[in-house]
Amino acid sequence: MAVKKRADEFFDDLEAMSAEVRKKYQNQKLAETVQHAYRHAPAVRDMLDTAGVKPDQIQTITDLPKLPITRKTDLIERQRTHPPYGGFSTVPQEDIDRVFISPGPVYEPVQHEGIRWFARAFWAAGFRKGDIVVNTFTYHLSPAGILFHEAIRDCGATAVPTGTGNTDIQVQTMHHLKATGFVGTPSFLMTVLQRAEEMGYNIKQDLRLKRAWFTGEMLAPSARETLENDYKIDTYQAYAVTESGGALAYECRQKSGMHLMDEYIIEIVDPETGRQLGPGEIGEIVATPLHNRNWGLIRFGTGDLSSYITEPCPCGRTAHRLTGILGRASDAVKVRGMFVVARQAEQVCLSFEPVARFQIVVTRHQQRDDMKLKVELKHELSAEEKQKLSGELSKQLQNICRIKPDGIDFVPGGTISEEQPKIVDERTWE
Ligand SMILES: [Zn+2]
Repeated sequence: MAVKKRADEFFDDLEAMSAEVRKKYQNQKLAETVQHAYRHAPAVRDMLDTAGVKPDQIQTITDLPKLPITRKTDLIERQRTHPPYGGFSTVPQEDIDRVFISPGPVYEPVQHEGIRWFARAFWAAGFRKGDIVVNTFTYHLSPAGILFHEAIRDCGATAVPTGTGNTDIQVQTMHHLKATGFVGTPSFLMTVLQRAEEMGYNIKQDLRLKRAWFTGEMLAPSARETLENDYKIDTYQAYAVTESGGALAYECRQKSGMHLMDEYIIEIVDPETGRQLGPGEIGEIVATPLHNRNWGLIRFGTGDLSSYITEPCPCGRTAHRLTGILGRASDAVKVRGMFVVARQAEQVCLSFEPVARFQIVVTRHQQRDDMKLKVELKHELSAEEKQKLSGELSKQLQNICRIKPDGIDFVPGGTISEEQPKIVDERTWE
């Protein structure tokens, strides 16, 4: 299928593919990617041969669990023993346009044509010709700066490569050039705006910033509210992973989950068993890039936890949406087969006004996981009010974290300290 560039809401036609067409598009690309990597990347040949899988046995997303998950540590180790690309490169050195370096280090060979699709993530945020965008991601020793720079250009906007740091110069540049867009992390934009105010600028009057595109850290709802309501800066976020060359998912104007990028096969898997999970189930994001034929990365385990939803989005994009990054796989605790993520539990518990602090304690009795919630209150409640709060907490935990606590204990103030972990796993496995 030819990729046609569009000039309206969508960057190209792929964003509005029907489920059936997308499946065909992705499966075909997946089969080609695996066959190509098997023929040209020794690391991939080793992996399939060891797993006893022939390349033509990988035809659809459901075939992928036949293959192991490759982690960042595996990439680093393989590149150390088989320098420089660890046997993942599929092209002769002279045909590589650029080499992206991610912390580790991990070296990723890329050809320019391989990054065009990436602009979708910026187009969806509204960047267009006429915008002047400061790109505050670093331009060296990381793919971020140059990758986002090209994407800003592919949207027709003007890119200003300011890189990270130099807060005063950032403020000055935005003011002098009348920059309309910001690309970076939410915390860096907050730092820049704070500095601008210290320097005597009135953000709304003296700067022209109207939209910001973030990745690298999740945008807290409170920060989004400040930026959008107080400073009138429209905010968008995307989920990007440097080792797999780009944004795996991005927000549209609805800002309700991040649409999956069609240039990856994204699986949500149980980090322990590698089993693929369905909509609404929390697991690790595993990505297979379909866009970079030079780089035979298959089933890259990101270590990040999320889930996806399949409900249609009013924006018209048809790709499923990631619900957000809920935490690291290593910070989650599996209780009765479901991952409980500290950050998610925190969102639920602290949304109730009387709750000051909480802690989840997981134990095991008679072969069954037991999850108790300890709650510290800001002020004393009657027995009746406590019972009502318990019921609501329990219901919300079930809704959001998909697991119901076995009991809720109200503990005296000062029992739970700020330094204590939000989830304590006291299970023993004898
Ligand atoms: Zn949408």
